[in-house]
Formats: sequence, structure tokens, C-alpha cells
Amino acid sequence: MRFHSLRARIAIVVVLLMLAVQLAGYAVISTVIRSNARSNSERQLAVAENVFRQVLRANGEKLTQAATVVAADFGFREAVATHDENTVVSALRNHGSRIDADIVMLATPDGKVTADSRGPSQGAAPFPLASLIRTAVRRGDASSIVPIDGKLYQVVAVPVKAPVTIAWVAMGFVIDDKTARDIATLTSLDVSFLDRLSDGRWSVLASSMPDARHAHASIADIADENYATRVVLLQSGGETIAVMLQRSLHEITAPFHRLQSVLAFITAVGVLLSIVGSMLTARSVTRPVQALMHFSRRVESGNYDQPIEVSHQDELGKLAKAFNHMQQAISERERHITELAYMDRLTGLANRAMFNDRLQAGIEHARAQADDGDAPLTFSVMMMDLDRFKYVNDTLGHPIGDQLLCEVATRLRNALHSKDLVARLGGDEFGVLLPADDNDGAQRVAAHLIKTLEVPITIEGQLVDVGASIGIVTWPQHGADMNVLMRRADIAMYVAKRTNTGFAVYDEKHDHNSAERLSLMSELRQAVEQDQLMLYYQPKLDLASGTVKYVEALVRWEHPTRGFVSPDQFIPFAEQTGYIKAISHWVADKAIGQCATWRAAGIELAVSVNVSARELIQSTLPETFSALLSKHGVPPELVWIEITESAIMDDPNHAIETLDRLHALGIRLAVDDFGTGYSSLSYLKRMPVDELKIDKSFVMAMTHHKDDETIVRSTIDLAHNMGLKVVAEGVETEDVLGRLRDLGCDLVQGFHLSRPLPPSRLEAWLIEWEIRQTADEA
Ligand code: C2E
Ligand code: CA
Ligand code: CA
Repeated sequence: MRFHSLRARIAIVVVLLMLAVQLAGYAVISTVIRSNARSNSERQLAVAENVFRQVLRANGEKLTQAATVVAADFGFREAVATHDENTVVSALRNHGSRIDADIVMLATPDGKVTADSRGPSQGAAPFPLASLIRTAVRRGDASSIVPIDGKLYQVVAVPVKAPVTIAWVAMGFVIDDKTARDIATLTSLDVSFLDRLSDGRWSVLASSMPDARHAHASIADIADENYATRVVLLQSGGETIAVMLQRSLHEITAPFHRLQSVLAFITAVGVLLSIVGSMLTARSVTRPVQALMHFSRRVESGNYDQPIEVSHQDELGKLAKAFNHMQQAISERERHITELAYMDRLTGLANRAMFNDRLQAGIEHARAQADDGDAPLTFSVMMMDLDRFKYVNDTLGHPIGDQLLCEVATRLRNALHSKDLVARLGGDEFGVLLPADDNDGAQRVAAHLIKTLEVPITIEGQLVDVGASIGIVTWPQHGADMNVLMRRADIAMYVAKRTNTGFAVYDEKHDHNSAERLSLMSELRQAVEQDQLMLYYQPKLDLASGTVKYVEALVRWEHPTRGFVSPDQFIPFAEQTGYIKAISHWVADKAIGQCATWRAAGIELAVSVNVSARELIQSTLPETFSALLSKHGVPPELVWIEITESAIMDDPNHAIETLDRLHALGIRLAVDDFGTGYSSLSYLKRMPVDELKIDKSFVMAMTHHKDDETIVRSTIDLAHNMGLKVVAEGVETEDVLGRLRDLGCDLVQGFHLSRPLPPSRLEAWLIEWEIRQTADEA
């Protein structure tokens, strides 16, 4: 127990207080007992003096009575008168022995002893009766205590009258040690008789105490400090006899000492009890304090599960309760904070932090399992990106975009097991953790999710159509740690997006492309800034007239180190990053500018520009083109815009609106890659398009595949029925060209005529073509 601990302090204070109280009590009781004993002894001494005097008086009366009887006896008087000594002595003896008197004497009226019961006066010192007789004459009788020969006597003198006093009878008791002891027995005090010697010292004549017979200089010498003493002075004649009544202080204080030791014992026990009591009290205080301390340490270390036990109803109990409330509040707040930290606020799904944590934990768990030699545990991770979300968000506004994300979140949650974790990783990207699935299981889940999301979503009366692309990876097959897994899931997701397959399981061969893609992204920015992009033009031939009045502008990237980079490689990624906007603007500006240049040079060519789905949804597209038309002073009918069928079908309503505004400017519109986007005819009818471009995948091999030819033919028929012109792209052979001519196709475009060419080479080709045409005609 350390000294500065609360427990020690409480114990020490209580013990000290207790000790002080006990000692004070002891002191008070001691003084009371002592003064009690003293006054007690005073009282005893006073009583003893009384008793002693009474004894003396009684003895005196007894002597007087006996002496009076003798003095009154007729025979005796006669014997005295006749000096019949023998009779006198025998009478004196007789009467004396009746009361056991020690001495009986007859004296002359002037005090001279004439007869003595002890025999003829052999005593050297004469019995000093004279003064006694004088007193008796004065008072009628007298009793006195007289020392004679070192012995003390109580003597009375009674006159013998015939009728005048003829003699005195003196009778006495000796006062010796026995007498003293008798008195002591009566008074329960020690009694000593002292006589003052001629030299002024005191000598003990008789005493109830043994060994008291010494001469002392003063009474004080005898009355030593161990005794309570009372001195009674008895006057007899000229002599002073001192009677000392003594009470042994030791005897008086013995019960007091007993009491005192009992008191001391009680004090000791009290102190002991107070030590134990204070320790227990201190413990009862410090125990809960200690418990609170341990508890707060637990809270500090983040353990909120165990409440502190409240066993007291006192302040400490209340404190403990307050601690419990505090713990609850902290854990509640912490839970809330954790929730905020781990929750996506918009959708209520887990966020990326939580997803990463759980994935990491999953990896560790699976690793531990593998280390233990248990059956290998696999799990899958899916990364999902909504296909057209950015357009929805950009065009319909963020509130709609947010609602869309929430609806997607709900659908994902409903479509998954509760053991699966679905998180929003950011933007329109979601992650799914499938704890027990392998590749096959994950693919089934992915297919299910895609299907779930295919059902169009209605938000504020608008039908919004989203799709998703999902990349799948499996631990440990596709990577041992989290970062590798996530990167590869991302790669697989882009593969799914590019190939339009909905979902894709990661494959090593994807990795190469993706690395390339990543660096392409950063380099693309430089490409526009450093003018590495170029526009090539591919002619379209009008089959009916044999003239070339239209060209398609196709972007080219001549990378300084990579060489030629296909638009198929960078356009989709430019779309994803939003960088397509800058590229498109550059292309439109360049193409319309080229058109103006050609016009100025007398070459009348209409230029088609490819516009990606993203631009289509951007409602500023008409303004951009209108601005460029006036900038270059080009009539709108010389500018065509090609939009892929799938771009239109991403959001037909919105596409139609934009197309209407473009068309209103006088710009011509063509549906590109027709046949691949499952266009709905009803939409097609409502769109202000002028031309359908049959996708090259049907055209290229149409002479070998009957199905392709059927599609080409029906497309041509359909277009014509709707009053549209038809272009076949990807014409690589004379055979195909001939077949298309037979089917009534209006225009053809393809390598068979010309590859896309830079402007100067296109001009040369045109001249060449014209010459060939004239030669053919001729
Ligand atoms: P697209 O609009 O369908 O363009 C036609 C593509 O077919 C061009 O590929 C062209 O070189 C190619 N082609 C032409 N004739 C033949 C042929 O006889 N046989 C074969 N096999 N191919 C032929 P390119 O230039 O590589 O462009 C690929 C795609 O990139 C384009 O497909 C277009 O969707 C996109 N693209 C090209 N330039 C731009 C642009 O400036 N803006 C936008 N948004 N997209 C562009
Ligand atoms: Ca095109
Ligand atoms: Ca095309």
C-alpha cells in the first residue's frame, strides 16, 4: 500500500483520529479514576478516624465503668482506708481481669501509686498519673493515653471517695501491635502510634504494620509516599501522641490499575479495530475506485462491450452508473462515426473504406485458412460500372443521377445475399464481395445483377435506362493481395465495357492493354495540345451518279514513339475520361475548316463528322456546330454528323431532342454502324435522320454469307421505305460493290475505293477518280 494512495490516507487518518480519541478517553478516565481513588481514600481515612476514636472512647468507658465499680466497692474502700494492701491488690486484680485490663493501680490523691496489679512497683518510671488525676478532678473522670517505658497505655482514673477522695483507681489497657492490628481490622487501615522523643524525633510505639518500629525525624518520614495518611494528635498531659492512620496507596490504586489496564486493553482493541475498520472502509472506497480505473482503461482501449458492475447505491454506485452512460454514449458516437466513415451517405451502402477493410480481412482470413492446411477458400470480387450514368448525370442533372444511384443500390442489395458485401466505391462504381464464390459462381451472380439492372428505371416520370459492366476476379487465382485484385477487377470491368458483354472474368492478356491504356490516357492530353492528331478523309461514292460528293472525317493519332494509334483504341477511353469533348471539338473545327478550304479551292465536298454518344447527350452540341459553321462560313448542308446507332439508343428521347436541334440548323444526320444497336423502328421514325450507314461487319463478307446479305438487303429496303439514303461502309471488293449496286444501295465507302487519306492526298485521289470516271464513260 503506497503512502500517497487514497486507501492509505483514509486508513491513516481514521487510525490517527481513533488513536487520539482513545488516548483522550484513556486520559480522562484515568484522571477521573485517580481523583476518585483519592477522595475515596480521604473518606476512608475520615471514617477510620471516627472508628478509631469510637474504639478509644468505648475502651475508655469500659475502663471507667470497671474502675468505678472498684472504687465504689465498700470492702475495697475499707481496705484502702485501712491500708490493707493485700486486699487492695487482690481486688484490683479481680476487677481488672474482668475486663482484661492490663494495668490496675491505686494512687494517692496526689498521684503517687500505692498499689499495682502487676505486683509491687518494680517499674522504674513512675506511672504519670498526676496530670491524669488533675484532669479527672476537673472533669469528674479522665481517659488518657500515656507512654510508659516505651509502651503505650490507655488509662482512666476514678476517685475512691469516703466520702472525700482518699485515693484514685487507675485502670488501663496496653496499646500494642495487637491493639493496632485489631483497630486496623476494624477500619481496614493501618494504624501506628507514635510518641515524640525528647530530642524531637518520633518513635513508633505500636503499629499494625510489621517493621515499623523505628525512630524518625518527622512524621513525613514515616508516612512515605506509598500511603495515604491521616494523623490524629492525642493530647495527654504534656505529651503528644500521634496516631497515624494509613491506607496503602497501592491497595487503593490496585482496582484503579486493574481498571486502567482494562481501559488500556480496550483502547488497544479499539485502535486495532479502527485500523481494520479503516482498512476495510478504505478498501470499500478504493475497490470501486480501482474498478472504475480499470474500466476507464478498458474504455480507453476501445472496449465498450463490458459495462461496469453497479453493486453500490452510494455516490460510487452513481459514479459507476455515470461511467456506464458515458461508455454507452462514447460507443454510440463511435459507432455513428464509424458508420459515417464506412457508409456511403447517398446510397447507404458501404463505402470504399469499408469495402477495402472487408476485402483485406477476407484475404487474411482466407490466408490463415490456407496456412492451417484447411480446404482452400476462394472468394470473388466484382467491380461494376454503370454504362450510361455519366450522361444521365450530365444531362438530367445531379438530383436525378443521385436517385438513379440509390435505385441501383437498392436493386443490388435486393439481388445479393446478406452475406455478400456491396459497396459504392465512388461515382457510378460499385464493388461486390462474394465471400464464398469462385469464378463460375461470380459469373452467375454478375449475370443476375446485369439482368436486374436492365429493367428500366423511372425517375420523376422519366424512363432511365442504365446498363452495367462488371469485372470479376477470384482469390487467390487472380492475385494474392488487395491492390492487385482491385486493379485486375478494374481491368476486367473495362474489358466487359469494351466488348459489351456485361461482365468479364479477368484474364492475364487484358493486362497488357490496360497498361497501355493508362499511359495512353495521359498522352492523349498531350496529343491535342501538341497537335499530334490529324484528320483523314475517306470518300463516299454515289453509285447512281458515280460522283464523290461526300467524305468522312476520321481522326488519326501519329504518336511520336508508338506510331499510329487506332481511334478504336483511344476514342472509347477518351469518352470515359470526358476528354472526348476536347477531341470532338478539335475534329469538328478541323473538318468544317477543311470543308471551307476545299470550297474556297472550288472543291465542293460535304464532310461527315463522327460524334460520340457522350456529345449527343450534351445539349451544347448544336451551339458548338452552329458556332463553327459561322466561324468557317460553311453552309450547314455541307456538314454531316454520324451518330452510332447504340449512342442513340442509350437515351433515345434525349438523342432525338438534340438531333432535332441539329437538324433545325440544316445539318444532315446519319445513323452509323446500323444493324448493331437493335434500333427500335418507332424511334428511328421519329428521328430527323437523312441516312443509314450499314455496319461494315455485314458488308465486308456479304458475298460469302447469305445472312449478312439478307440484313444488307432488308436494311436498304427499310431505309428506302422510310425515305432515307443508304450507305454501305467497309466495301473492300469489286464483288461487294457490284452486289450493293444490284441491291440499290445509294452510296458506298471502303478500302476498295480508298482508305482514309490526308487532305492533300484525297485531293489527288479525287482528280485521279475523275479522270478514271471520264475514261470509263468514254
Ligand atoms: P466508323 O465511324 O465506323 O469509321 C469507319 C471505320 O472503318 C474507320 O476506321 C475506317 O478506317 C474503317 N474502314 C473504312 N473502310 C473500310 C474497309 O473497307 N474495310 C475495313 N476493314 N475498315 C474500313 P477508323 O478510322 O479506325 O475508325 C474507327 C472508329 O473510330 C470509327 O468507326 C469511329 O467510330 C471512330 N472515330 C474515328 N474518328 C472519329 C472522330 O473524329 N470522332 C469520333 N467520335 N469517333 C471517331
Ligand atoms: Ca463513321
Ligand atoms: Ca461505321
